[in-house]
Amino acid sequence: MALIVHKYGGTSMGSTERIKNVAKRVAKWHDAGHQIVVVPSAMSGETNRIIGLAKEIMAQPDPRELDMIASTGEQVSVGLLSMALQAIGKQAVSYAGWQVPIKTDSAYTKARIESIDDAKVKADLDAGKIVVITGFQGVDEKGNITTLGRGGSDTSAVAIAAALKAQECLIYTDVDGVYTTDPRVVSDARRLNTVTFEEMLEMASLGSKVLQIRSVEFAGNYRMPTRVLSSLTDPLMPLEEEANSGTLISFEEDTNMEQATITGIAFSRDEAKITVLGVPDKPGIAYQILGPVADANIEVDMIIQNQSVEGKTDFTFTVPRGEYTKAMAVLEGSVKAHIGAASIVGDTKVSKVSVVGVGMRSHVGIASQMFRTLSEEGINILMISTSEIKISVLIDEKYMELAVRSLHKAFGLESA
Ligand code: ADP
Ligand code: ASP
Ligand code: MG
Repeated sequence: MALIVHKYGGTSMGSTERIKNVAKRVAKWHDAGHQIVVVPSAMSGETNRIIGLAKEIMAQPDPRELDMIASTGEQVSVGLLSMALQAIGKQAVSYAGWQVPIKTDSAYTKARIESIDDAKVKADLDAGKIVVITGFQGVDEKGNITTLGRGGSDTSAVAIAAALKAQECLIYTDVDGVYTTDPRVVSDARRLNTVTFEEMLEMASLGSKVLQIRSVEFAGNYRMPTRVLSSLTDPLMPLEEEANSGTLISFEEDTNMEQATITGIAFSRDEAKITVLGVPDKPGIAYQILGPVADANIEVDMIIQNQSVEGKTDFTFTVPRGEYTKAMAVLEGSVKAHIGAASIVGDTKVSKVSVVGVGMRSHVGIASQMFRTLSEEGINILMISTSEIKISVLIDEKYMELAVRSLHKAFGLESA
């Protein structure tokens, strides 16, 4: 007998029919003698619908109130799934984040989990119940409801698995694993049987939304075995077969020298670029520009500062597209006048494409192959950033899919 956490995404919970299938699958695992905690997302489209309602009321909704409503989709899901389990003869109980409780900080819309109380859940499991806990939401120390950022149910699931010291966390989704790139963009993308934790971390941070980045961080910090697999297969398929399907995130250092140099191509459509023009080139300028942006809780990604001409330079950086207006307001508000910049310009039609692979450490020439491929397609590179295991470029968003497809081919990632 093992304690296992299952997570089901929006598509997997997308209709009452699908919820009944989830219940059948969960019941199969419980019948095999396992203790099961299930963490569902809101039904697909629901979180978007709720956020859309808020935006009809005001363009920049108050984050506390936004979390109050955005968290409700998951509450519907846990209730329906518990009912579906009860309807097939299982004892099941649902909890919202605050009932567990899952405690977070107070950073509304992108809160971080601080602690999870396992007492109530363990008692229910020991009493033979299946426990169904809302993904995506938590509660801060003042009792306010918080959410963990879009795609946050993955993080809820892995964090709950870690807190309960589960044997494995199974992330059921609408694809049958992690692919060399998004299979919806490149039809001959190849499924990976395993992906190293480091590579998954890079892919998630660079935009592969199959797992939210914080879930991968939790998996790494707690060495929680985590597997991505399909929820759309026959729920009654043999358990052994299901348990070994999909993609396992591995914590082993890959010693296989023959492994592919590049594991995957990640991309993010939602980037924005900001350039502060004509700033005095003197110590402290980067801090004076980026300090207030960080204070506004906006994440900065790529950064470049140009060669200075007559003591003046240009400073360019990227932020998530959704934070662009806020970042511009911060810069126009106080920073521009304070540092004596000439002007600030922005571009919200940019995307980031990255090649990822631990094999890059032992191979040279990956960057030049990447740049050659993009140049052959006539794609202009706006910014570049690198780490030991990834190279990212910022490009015009119109060429994003072309870039992903041509790089996938150039690095020989397609399925045989
Ligand atoms: P869920 O609702 O189950 O959380 P998501 O839509 O958040 O599902 O994530 C699954 C989606 O991630 C897939 O449908 C796929 O389009 C996308 N995706 C992006 N990159 C990858 C990748 N490298 N491998 C698999 N899926 C990917
Ligand atoms: N329902 C939330 C969202 O749409 C959380 C999740 O699906 O993981 O972002
Ligand atoms: Mg998701």
